[in-house]
Amino acid sequence: MEELRRLLPEFQFYPKSVQQIRETTLALAKTEDREVLVIVGKKPAKFEGKVRKINGRRVHICPTDFRNAKKLQSLLPFLRPKPSWLRSSVGFGDRTGLATPGHIRAARALGVFPVLAQQSSRELRKTRRNFEQVMSRAVWGVFKEGYQDGFGADADHLSTLEEVRKAVRAGFTGFTIDVSPYLDYSESNLLVKVSRWSSPAELQRDYKRFEIVPGFELVFEGDEVWRICARFSRALNFVVKVWKFLIDKVGDFDFEISLDETSEPTSPKEHFFFVRELKLRGVKITSFAPRFVGKFEKAVDYKGDLEKLKENLRQHYLIAQYLGPYKLSIHSGSDKPSIYPLLAEVGPVHIKTSGTTYLVALEVIQQYEPNLFSRICRFAESVYEKEKKAYEGLIGAPKKAGLEGEGRQILHVTYGPVLKKFGREITQVLFKHEEEFYSKLEKHFGALSPAFKKQ
Ligand SMILES: [Zn+2]
Repeated sequence: MEELRRLLPEFQFYPKSVQQIRETTLALAKTEDREVLVIVGKKPAKFEGKVRKINGRRVHICPTDFRNAKKLQSLLPFLRPKPSWLRSSVGFGDRTGLATPGHIRAARALGVFPVLAQQSSRELRKTRRNFEQVMSRAVWGVFKEGYQDGFGADADHLSTLEEVRKAVRAGFTGFTIDVSPYLDYSESNLLVKVSRWSSPAELQRDYKRFEIVPGFELVFEGDEVWRICARFSRALNFVVKVWKFLIDKVGDFDFEISLDETSEPTSPKEHFFFVRELKLRGVKITSFAPRFVGKFEKAVDYKGDLEKLKENLRQHYLIAQYLGPYKLSIHSGSDKPSIYPLLAEVGPVHIKTSGTTYLVALEVIQQYEPNLFSRICRFAESVYEKEKKAYEGLIGAPKKAGLEGEGRQILHVTYGPVLKKFGREITQVLFKHEEEFYSKLEKHFGALSPAFKKQ
């Protein structure tokens, strides 16, 4: 550290990032407007960057991009993501790409496995980023924080094989398959649809009565199994195709199925049928995200009957224990304090959050640049009607943008155009006040702790 400071007094080094590889020192430093990787001595891999001779020492100043992140991952195993398996875990989506150290501190305080690189295809489109950039930002954040306890990377809400391929190329080790585009709710041509997946006669023989635990049975009557199978047959085929691809290309990975954006709650029988059929074909999942009863709107507390949700969680949990075990995954899981004690009863769970980190970023803007914050709010209100369409059925009807109550939803769903217009200004403020941003994140996610009490 002393040598680094002596050689480059104009740089501000992050002490936790310093790594020694034989005679070479590597560290992350902050210049006026960006972060750089500094390497003193012989380069231990082919990093791209500029070299300078200072006091007879070779000093390399390298950009913190994806290519250099990959080089660094090849040298330092703790920078490579891995599966979470059955550990309690939290998905920390980061649309700004600046939040990772705050997420690490939050995960440590909660005692959970952090999924630090996590974005959905929709978020990538809206933020004009790709999986490589998301991975890169997480890796540099882990390096900066010197965090060596392991983290996950979840390519979220994938619904085409092409998206899966891109995520694999970027080094992701977790894949959430959103099957909602493959669902078929119409009741016509039942047997044709069933035959896409299985033999109708065999299915009807197979699906009669299952005792999940004493007192909780699933009974399939008449052509019920056909109706369920017809609804899911294309989805099942797609999942199996993705699974085979991933087994071949990745080996060990977290595999999640998400049904959370469907129009109807996922019934226990649908959950059971879907996962059991996958299991019979050798597909192993890490987590399953049903659509639960009630409303999981973005950035506000759960809306619905908590007693009903409790029973709903218990049934899905028992099915997950019976067929797995695998974890229940709770999407739109941030800002839902009323449900956290219920989640502790059905753990370990995976809680997925994303927009909440963006809202914490806006808190920093509000505190340090109130004028910028006001401009963001006015702009968000002006694009809200258009942007909320992507979230049909999820959003109430707030009028004024803000960080309290339902105004949060306006800010939550307008991040695409807001980041396009104000992204550079937002980044500058967060970069300048990064420690405040991290502390706010740690504090904010502390609210999840009741979900992880009972282990
Ligand atoms: Zn989701």
